[in-house]
Amino acid sequence: MPDQLELTLDIKTKFQRWLASKGARLSSCSICDAKQLQLEDYLIVPTVLASPPNQQVPKYPMLQVTCRNCGNTIYFNAMVAGIVAAQKVVTEKK
Ligand SMILES: [Zn+2]
Repeated sequence: MPDQLELTLDIKTKFQRWLASKGARLSSCSICDAKQLQLEDYLIVPTVLASPPNQQVPKYPMLQVTCRNCGNTIYFNAMVAGIVAAQKVVTEKK
């Protein structure tokens, strides 16, 4: 996991370029159609609620895009997007 989880402007630009390279863009919300999508300033890591005992649990850092109108939130895997190196993903014992 990177030491700094805040997304700088450079990282946000890198993400948007990556998104555009996939033929996608953040334009309007898929739920309410408002043009109020915002790339949040921090990566998040979803918590695994159940796993086999004594297993290493992978962590998946995610970028989040939130609709300011309805709250719909879209997550992008930061490793797939090239924002976080896959080898830096931390695992923990449960
Ligand atoms: Zn919305």
